[in-house]
Amino acid sequence: MQTQLDQLWETFKKSILFLITFLFISTAQLLAQDKFVVVLDAGHGGKDPGKVAKNIYEKNVALNIVLLTGKYLEAHKDIKVVYTRKKDVFVDLKERGKIANDADADLFVSIHCNAHHTQASGTETYVLGLHANKQNFEVAKHENSVIFMEDNYEEKYEGFDPNSPEAVIGMTLMQEEFLDESLLVASYTQEKFTKELKRVDRGVKQAGFVVLHQTYMPSILIETGFITNKNEGAFLKSKSGQQRVAKAIAQAILKYKKHLDENYVIEAPKKKEPKVKEARVVEGVDFKVQISSSKRKLPLKSYNFNGLKGVKRIKDGHFYKYYYGDTSDYDAINKMRNEARKKGYPDAFVVAFKGSKKITVTKALLMRKQ
Ligand SMILES: [Zn+2]
Repeated sequence: MQTQLDQLWETFKKSILFLITFLFISTAQLLAQDKFVVVLDAGHGGKDPGKVAKNIYEKNVALNIVLLTGKYLEAHKDIKVVYTRKKDVFVDLKERGKIANDADADLFVSIHCNAHHTQASGTETYVLGLHANKQNFEVAKHENSVIFMEDNYEEKYEGFDPNSPEAVIGMTLMQEEFLDESLLVASYTQEKFTKELKRVDRGVKQAGFVVLHQTYMPSILIETGFITNKNEGAFLKSKSGQQRVAKAIAQAILKYKKHLDENYVIEAPKKKEPKVKEARVVEGVDFKVQISSSKRKLPLKSYNFNGLKGVKRIKDGHFYKYYYGDTSDYDAINKMRNEARKKGYPDAFVVAFKGSKKITVTKALLMRKQ
């Protein structure tokens, strides 16, 4: 009898402990959701040193700047920082993207250093985009070439060839919907570098970086300066230089967060005058879900689109783009996007049109009458 009671008591204690742990984890998750999540990505690492100039290693400079940037940001309670690496280890590009996507991050920032055989200097910040030129391509090619060090890279990147300028054209679609936001945070970064640190401004640029292609959120890649330049190299290697660069990056991220807070806050209803959450309807704008883009002209029958009804086709250059849904209600179109994703279009995303002109979703939402 006594042992039975003991057993019962043990089981009871275990259940209580389980319940407390469960509640604790759920609360922690709930709290974490409200935070602005930034993924800081220190380029290279481990067997991949990145660029090397005399005794300066890109992988070390990038990691130090990332850790310092993280420290500045972590002082803000409403920000959560996720790192792709905190040590000198090799992480492949796909894994970096996966870390960001799994964290459901709001922003992805990859940090690197430049090198050149001349005494070139200055900072530049990249977004994934097609306004690329040969010089930008060379920078991206160098950063992308790390995939050759990865196991099975041919399979992982589906035959992507970092040495082919054409190959990058095919990879930009995924980041298209984040282009405006990425450009904005990139410009804030260059602004901080130029105005506050008086660094040489090489501008905001676009090119095809594999690491930026893996993420589903606004993403930038910062070339913090040339380790091959005598002065800049010494600056980037020094603790104070790294601190100043990190602070500038952190400030740019904070400025971007502030911009989002000001533009996208859905106000919680005030206690005294409860009101229903306003529908996000933008008059004069048509939101659609882009489910695919193809050179093939498919008949618009639902059996061609996994059962999605009312798909429309718009010719855009050499491609036919296929759209599902048509509404000025942003929340309704998000539901339709989720439906499309469930029905076999995992990359489906929302686009906005004003008349026949395509505009960014960000711009469309800003047009909403307050
Ligand atoms: Zn690099």
